[in-house]
Amino acid sequence: MKLDTVLKNDRYEISFEVFPPKADTAFESVRAAVEDIAALRPSFMSVTYGAGGGTSRYTLDIAKDIKERFDVPMLAHLTCVSSTRETIRRAIEDMKTAGIQNVMALRGDLTPELAESDRSGWAYRHAVDLIREIKESGADFCIGGACYPEIHPESEDQKEDIRYLKEKVDAGCDFLTTQMFFDNNLLFNFLYKIREAGITVPVLPGIMPITSGRQVERAIKLSGSFMPQRFKSIVDRFGHDEAAMMQAGVAYATDQIIDLFANGIRHVHIYSMNKPKVAASILANLSDIIGKC
Ligand code: FAD
Repeated sequence: MKLDTVLKNDRYEISFEVFPPKADTAFESVRAAVEDIAALRPSFMSVTYGAGGGTSRYTLDIAKDIKERFDVPMLAHLTCVSSTRETIRRAIEDMKTAGIQNVMALRGDLTPELAESDRSGWAYRHAVDLIREIKESGADFCIGGACYPEIHPESEDQKEDIRYLKEKVDAGCDFLTTQMFFDNNLLFNFLYKIREAGITVPVLPGIMPITSGRQVERAIKLSGSFMPQRFKSIVDRFGHDEAAMMQAGVAYATDQIIDLFANGIRHVHIYSMNKPKVAASILANLSDIIGKC
């Protein structure tokens, strides 16, 4: 099912992001975790592409497998940074053949070497170039794009970031998913600004449940997200105790989601980090809310 249909739904909904294995040997354990998450019947699932060292070639396999066996709508991520036209065109064809109807079109992170290299010969410099390529291919995908309530780390300022975001949406983005954030006011502020700039597509807030002390440093380093004092206190107090941090992290994420729902958001995307227990705990906390109008 295409996600533009799913996102028209007026009910409170949760979707989950998973990532492919980082090494071939981890395939079976990732598959088991992803299946357990699919069994929770989220509104859709997304599968990242090479993010955090995940193996890109499994993205499509996982998306196809879960779609066919669990009947959960799937969103396959695709990055274009430093790729050739041939590689991207083949990836688009492979998605069509696999029956994938939804693609998250991303640039991908610049490694230090890529950031230093001469980009003049690159076929794709930004996500917008990938979106145009997908549109030109004639594929009837629902296309998602990334957005950053706390601005993208490479952007000079938010005005510039939103100007490029508008260009991405105008090129054919049907919806946006946000980078993680830990303070909902940052999202509400951002939504106000992008709506004012004429960006009207659905925006899915991305929520990252932090369930271990180790995860915090990495998540903040990757995203540059602001850590509110309330959140810092939780990590300081419980970060060293796995079971306690798991409970506190799930509670914090649940609280964020309830506040988003209470303030007009209908659909939240959760960075599940392939943890079925975390995904199930959040859904259990929201059991009398999810599915209601
Ligand atoms: P872009 O939209 O190209 O933006 C990158 C920067 O360039 C921004 O500063 C923007 O303002 C600027 N810019 C945009 N267009 C132009 C233009 N025309 N001219 C000049 N500047 C421009 N990474 C992975 O590797 N795999 C994944 O699966 C993955 N999934 C993600 C999912 C979500 C929801 C998010 C938020 C991020 C994800 N990422 C993933 C990380 C993402 O690849 C990085 O954040 C990357 O640095 C930017 O990707 P983008 O698609 O937002 O890029």
